[in-house]
Amino acid sequence: MSSLKIGVVGAGLGGLTAALALLKEGFDVEIFEQSENLREAGAGLQIAANGTRVLYELGMGPDIERIGTTPTGKEVRLWNTGKSWKFIDLGDASLAKYGAPYYAVHRADLHNELIRAVRQERPDAIRLGAKCSGLEQDEAGVTIRFADGRTRKTDLLIAADGIHSRIRQTLFGPDKVKFSGFMAWRALVPTANLPASISRTDGAFWIGPGAHIVHYPVRGSQLINFIGIVEREDWTVESWTETGTVEELRQDFAGWHDDVQSLIQNIQTPYKWALIFREPISQWSVGRVTLLGDAAHSTLPFLAQGANMAIEDGMVIARALKEYGGSPAEALLRYQAARIARTTRVVHLSAEQAGRVHNPALADTAVAEAHVEREWEKNRVSDRYDWLYAYNAMTVPL
Ligand SMILES: Cc1cc2nc3c(=O)[nH]c(=O)nc-3n(C[C@H](O)[C@H](O)[C@H](O)COP(=O)(O)OP(=O)(O)OC[C@H]3O[C@@H](n4cnc5c(N)ncnc54)[C@H](O)[C@@H]3O)c2cc1C
Repeated sequence: MSSLKIGVVGAGLGGLTAALALLKEGFDVEIFEQSENLREAGAGLQIAANGTRVLYELGMGPDIERIGTTPTGKEVRLWNTGKSWKFIDLGDASLAKYGAPYYAVHRADLHNELIRAVRQERPDAIRLGAKCSGLEQDEAGVTIRFADGRTRKTDLLIAADGIHSRIRQTLFGPDKVKFSGFMAWRALVPTANLPASISRTDGAFWIGPGAHIVHYPVRGSQLINFIGIVEREDWTVESWTETGTVEELRQDFAGWHDDVQSLIQNIQTPYKWALIFREPISQWSVGRVTLLGDAAHSTLPFLAQGANMAIEDGMVIARALKEYGGSPAEALLRYQAARIARTTRVVHLSAEQAGRVHNPALADTAVAEAHVEREWEKNRVSDRYDWLYAYNAMTVPL
């Protein structure tokens, strides 16, 4: 085991991936999680080739194959007529083109597998009920303070404490937030009651004026993960647990195609999440402390890359510490330098994607069809997605 003692705050997908990668390199790692129980939201997650490549490298290939569903591709559908166009081939095509598969998973399933893998490396790695309330650092190390008055000394600290990161605000001051004007509806829908016109094998991307919907199969296609994004100014709470009503959701998608109505009709509890935009910051590392995952680069979810970026971060930080661990502050700066241009680009392009999928002109069917044919033309799709999916966190220069 390396003598470097590393604290990770936050046992979400980012913190767990980083901890697993570091444990596999022989570091002494402890994860401090505020919750008393390890739980993830009931929701789906798309893990593209850039994320699965890392999970395979960490030995989790068999796990993701067991829990994941492989969409054969994605289609774009028009809000009123339901007409569909091919968007992208995934399945075998992802493997052939990007060298790794594309999986849709239930978040809790991936979270559980990461927890199991971390505990396999170190059974007591995860400390629950450990809410970080602050920190101090000097040349020799970091003292982490917890809400119950305890403290812990480590050689360095990785803050993977999510979108509302307390450590980000301690290091860099209050966030500059901007409400995006969008709200996401989320739900898992049992597939059995849905008409055959809703694909069990492909993901779909419905576009319309003022709203769009993404759905894709998870848990062996027994469930469809539904995300409906609407332009609404009246909801500003960013949370995995706030609920709304099916009636409210139905009103937001009034006039949309019958397939959309079937999905909504079969939802029991719709959850609401306000989409807040945070301008990317240009520094993550201060001395022996750095940020990772949403704490470093929270993003609007329009490219489905938030968790993928957190997974990439985990691999890159482990590589940086393996190579430059003799000088922890340098290792953290190298990690930041290797990652920040890519994550900033993802955050900006995700925001830009809103205009493409929410264009008011989509109210007119003829205009909408021309828009889809232009924007989802094969070469344009390649330009938008190849650089994302082809990224290799194991070889990116440090
Ligand atoms: C609607 C929606 C759909 C999405 N779909 C996708 C998708 O398909 N693909 C994709 O890649 N991404 C997607 N994302 C983004 C993805 O969910 C996030 O980017 C990802 O979960 C970030 O992981 P994380 O580990 O950085 O943070 P989190 O998952 O938020 O984990 C943070 C952890 O830190 C803990 N914590 C917080 N504060 C403290 C503290 N003070 N002390 C101790 N512990 C603390 C929390 O309890 C939590 O366990 C989506 C997001 C949304 C909103």
